[in-house]
Amino acid sequence: MLITNRPDADVGTLRARLDGAVYGPADAGWDQARRAWNLAVDQRPAAVAFPVTDADVVAAVEFAAERGLRIAPQGTGHGAAALAPDLEGAILLSTARMRGVRIDPRARRARVRAGAQWGDVSLPASAYGLAPLAGSSADVGVVGYTLGGGLSWLARKHGLACNSIVSLEVATAGRGLVKVDAEHERDLFWALRGGGGSFGVVTAMELELYAVDDLYAGAMLWPWERAGEIFDAYRAWAQTVPDEVTSLCRLLQAPDLPDVPAPLRGRRFVVFEAAVSGHEPYRRDIVEPMRAFGPELDMFAVMPPAGLVEIHGDPKHPVPAMGNGRLLSNVGDAALDALLEAAGPGSGSPFVSVELRQLGGALARRDPSHGALASLDADYSLFAAGVVTGAEAAMAIDGALAELLDTMAPWDAGTGYLNFVEAPDHPRRFFDAETYAILKGIKGTVDPGGVFLSNHPV
Ligand SMILES: Cc1cc2nc3c(=O)[nH]c(=O)nc-3n(C[C@H](O)[C@H](O)[C@H](O)COP(=O)(O)OP(=O)(O)OC[C@H]3O[C@@H](n4cnc5c(N)ncnc54)[C@H](O)[C@@H]3O)c2cc1C
Repeated sequence: MLITNRPDADVGTLRARLDGAVYGPADAGWDQARRAWNLAVDQRPAAVAFPVTDADVVAAVEFAAERGLRIAPQGTGHGAAALAPDLEGAILLSTARMRGVRIDPRARRARVRAGAQWGDVSLPASAYGLAPLAGSSADVGVVGYTLGGGLSWLARKHGLACNSIVSLEVATAGRGLVKVDAEHERDLFWALRGGGGSFGVVTAMELELYAVDDLYAGAMLWPWERAGEIFDAYRAWAQTVPDEVTSLCRLLQAPDLPDVPAPLRGRRFVVFEAAVSGHEPYRRDIVEPMRAFGPELDMFAVMPPAGLVEIHGDPKHPVPAMGNGRLLSNVGDAALDALLEAAGPGSGSPFVSVELRQLGGALARRDPSHGALASLDADYSLFAAGVVTGAEAAMAIDGALAELLDTMAPWDAGTGYLNFVEAPDHPRRFFDAETYAILKGIKGTVDPGGVFLSNHPV
């Protein structure tokens, strides 16, 4: 029985079972309730629930299972583009009203509730000289990011964020709330560390924090006409740096909008960004070879770990965006030439940003203690995104994304990174064949009725 067939009656029943709010298509506030962070995504679920307690989450899951509906957990909707097409007959379960973080500085751990965002963790942890393996943006959801892998500014030193999960609390199909860690529900613990959101609703998560002295981090910018020279220099430099350095190089066409910093507004740049841990003078010296190219703007500074959520300059509020990515290997001159021809000066590129993020270091090292995403077996992550200002822009970005990914196909690493694929894609692309088969088996065991609907569902 689909909730959409009898919206008022069914939404009313669900509402009566939850302390949190529930919206159906006929309710005032529906459009606001179904809105994702990514405003380009038109989410049309059967209902939206905003649980406020773990019991609410369990009740919503039970309700969905009873009615033959699906549950699509969502923290912020940063990753909504891959999910939206499947939402018919699903309850969108927004954890936005379940924020809350506890930092234990002695144990160097953070316990976050389902709706916590990275800024909620990074800022208080930083006061103790600790850092989580946070994303580049303060308002990305901790849980969604971490279940999908998690590439942070400390990634080459400490690996994927998913492998820093200590424990989880998960609302399951049919078994209520379960504790998941290295001793309990071991299959689920493995699957949730990189396998995505297909296995249950995470209501809380405990994560390792890392002791970091102040970092040397920031960005250098040159006019984008120098893109060829700077990308070449970046690739050569990146091959020499130790795991204490996580960095990227990108093309930036900054929108002419009031919330873009004045020196960047409406201008085009080639940008180098890095975070360096370790001691002076080593950490300053390490970016000198890039500085030698005389950046127009140099925003590197010594900063506490909390500063890391600022250096990429991600938007601080929801935006309509379209993006997509590919993992690359064997990136040499021909690959850089192809990238710049497709998206650099003279290409007519509609992208706000096209980045090459260096992988390797701890990201490439597998350990038996790791979860389903044990490593990222590629040299660089390519990610391109544009802002959708209307139908014409959407078509241009869509076409340019397809062309860019196609152009870079000769350097495809043979695997993908779930968090940076913002279009429906087969999850088999994100795992090797054996890992995918095990994930499918675990999904069949823990969710035989297929209640949970994730972006990139296993
Ligand atoms: C501006 C921006 C910056 C980004 N920066 C980075 C970065 O630096 N590094 C990086 O690796 N990625 C980055 N990403 C990608 C990001 O990690 C993914 O979009 C991720 O899915 C976001 O998680 P979310 O919870 O905010 O998104 P949501 O869209 O809310 O969730 C995405 C998916 O996560 C799962 N999920 C969420 N909450 C739960 C839950 N409680 N229980 C079970 N499953 C759940 C669901 O499957 C859901 O479909 C960035 C994205 C954007 C738009």
